[in-house]
Amino acid sequence: MADDLLLLGGSVIDGTGAAASPDTAVLLVDGRIAALGADAVAHAAATTTTLDVAGQTVMPGLIDSHLHCTFDDVQSNDELFFHRDPTMVTLTTSQNLQKILRAGVTSFVDPDTAHGVGPSIREAIEAGVISGPRMKTGVQALMTAVGGTAGRLIPDEGTVGYAQVVNSVDEVILWTRRHIKFGADWIKIHATGSIPGRPGELMVWNRNEMKAACETAHELGVPVMAHCRSPESTTICAEAGVDLILHASFIDDDGLQAVIDNGASICPTFTFLANLADFGASVGATPGMEDVFRNEIQATAKMMRKAYDEGVRIISGSESGFALTPYGHWHGREMQVFVEELGLTELEAITTATKNGAWTMRMEEDLGTIEVGKLADVLVVDGDPTTDITMLNDKSRLSEVISRGERVDLSAPWPEHGHIKDWKIGKWAEEILTWDRAYG
Ligand SMILES: [Zn+2]
Repeated sequence: MADDLLLLGGSVIDGTGAAASPDTAVLLVDGRIAALGADAVAHAAATTTTLDVAGQTVMPGLIDSHLHCTFDDVQSNDELFFHRDPTMVTLTTSQNLQKILRAGVTSFVDPDTAHGVGPSIREAIEAGVISGPRMKTGVQALMTAVGGTAGRLIPDEGTVGYAQVVNSVDEVILWTRRHIKFGADWIKIHATGSIPGRPGELMVWNRNEMKAACETAHELGVPVMAHCRSPESTTICAEAGVDLILHASFIDDDGLQAVIDNGASICPTFTFLANLADFGASVGATPGMEDVFRNEIQATAKMMRKAYDEGVRIISGSESGFALTPYGHWHGREMQVFVEELGLTELEAITTATKNGAWTMRMEEDLGTIEVGKLADVLVVDGDPTTDITMLNDKSRLSEVISRGERVDLSAPWPEHGHIKDWKIGKWAEEILTWDRAYG
């Protein structure tokens, strides 16, 4: 049951990019935004709960357009593909959803899910079997036999973890249709992959395969997103009709033109790279990766700014679900990168996680802004994020998370689970124990 709430005295950032409006009341009734300003005060009923939020900021709940809710803060591809069973994946996901919600994320998009459990998780949330943010989801990521970022761990054919291998245009069509039949809101394509011994990622789909996926999905009214971490991949995917480019790493002028000409949007998802570059050493990440990722951010950010200025929809996504991007901690980091590396204003950055996220959710009529009639997904932030965007990552600043018109309990202990037998891979050691290291 949604509470009827009157948020009184707060400064409202509506998520459209407009400047904050000070001292503006917000009335939430039956899970919707019922009225704003003087109207809100006038229409509050005697039974309405009033929250004094003077001096605080009222804004739309965050929409994280790229996270992996079934990965359980995974530490390696080996673990992710070969040590996870569907039941435990589902159980841990139900707990991890609480962390995501408690961090102010009231909606998210998950491109691909371990064992394809995404649609079931979404339906369990919708039906109230488990609680969690609003969710839109893919089933698994379509990959060619070259694989994605897991190299030779991906088999030549079949299904493993979050991957579905497709080896011909016919298989592309078949699996796109199957994923839609099983409830995909999005089709996810791993357009680039790593080949051992070759630097970076390479385009591992041809144009016909890519077109087949886009045409098949679009015929059934489902959009397509693609993981693109090479310059030509963004060009080829945008030309083939991909709706959302993930990463767009090293996007060049041709790529940007293709994105503009075809009306694609971009979710750069710098957060994983930024965390590794800034903090990788402190958690034992593979040495040398810091500079690689820092260069990727800098090379891409310049073009991303250009894309933003050309009117391309830029969207915030955190890639949460990995050891470097654990749930509940980094959902606001992307906005910080947009401010620091793209030079967006804080208000512009907030729009990438509110109004623009509503597009990824396919819920633009209902979500993403504080406007009368929209769904009551609202945050109250103790402070002004337009002067310091980093506070959106600071849970101590979140005084209220309102999801579907209900106040989320922020006082309960942070949900955590302990060691799950045969789940996390035990590493023998971080480094090689040579005789010299022991006695030298
Ligand atoms: Zn991802």
